[in-house]
Amino acid sequence: MSTELWYSERWEEGRSAISLKVLEVLHREQSPYQTIEIFRTESFGTLMTLDGLVMVTDRDNFVYHEMMSHPALFSHPDPKRVLIIGGGDCGTLREVLKHPGVRHVDMVELDERVTRVAEQFFPELCEANGDPRAHFHFQDGIQWVADAPAGSYDVIIIDSTDPVGPAAGLFSAQFYGNCLRALGERGVVVGQSESPLFHAELIRSVRARLREAGASDVATLHFPQCTYPSGWWSATLGGKGVKLEEFRHADAAAKSFATRYYNAALHRGALAMPEFLRD
Ligand code: SAM
Repeated sequence: MSTELWYSERWEEGRSAISLKVLEVLHREQSPYQTIEIFRTESFGTLMTLDGLVMVTDRDNFVYHEMMSHPALFSHPDPKRVLIIGGGDCGTLREVLKHPGVRHVDMVELDERVTRVAEQFFPELCEANGDPRAHFHFQDGIQWVADAPAGSYDVIIIDSTDPVGPAAGLFSAQFYGNCLRALGERGVVVGQSESPLFHAELIRSVRARLREAGASDVATLHFPQCTYPSGWWSATLGGKGVKLEEFRHADAAAKSFATRYYNAALHRGALAMPEFLRD
């Protein structure tokens, strides 16, 4: 009998799973909102799961965090005020703070325990948490956006869990309407929008709801994410008074900070739609 321990996230509808060989269970707790688990895996380093779903691994989180942040920030002419909804592991926050023009970031995460556990097990993702521009608020992002003064942000990043439970409202037309109201005259909202291969219908509805909420332009980026279902992920952007295809290409090409995945050419390439998605 095998004594090997494997972590498997099953996607029942697609009759498929992603599995990682586990060397050790490092942490397990039930927060007021979800089960947080940390594993040491053989090939992907440390793994965080929430309610049994993969959130972050050491090895491949850079692709997701860079694509959730830099395309939106380079789509805005001069982003200074940024709101992150969710994103408790702090990887997106770290990327946003690499932009020297950013003056203020509100990170609104429902579950403080996700951030505290990330500080312990993913210290590199949390290395910018002490930056004086970063402001943490542990509360519901839906309420935060509903209460936000009109025109108070340049960029809003929705780094959420899947559209179930407390994150379901982060995919609604009403929430997007509040995001667009909270954006300045020119603004960008971006949300993770699941797998192009498995969740094309969700991407279609996110795009339609953003338009319904008043976005003047909508674009979907796609990128590899090998530990998420299907290994292929997406982020959908809504522009308010900005054309998303016309991002600041020259600034992105001359960016003053290091990335491991994002660059100007990839940004342009990620906006190109495969034929089946265009349909
Ligand atoms: N990279 C991840 C993914 O796509 O699988 C998402 C990362 S991040 C850890 C997601 C965070 O969203 C979680 O920490 C969760 O607590 C938070 N979240 C879910 N619903 C929320 C809400 N309504 N307001 C604020 N944060 C929320």
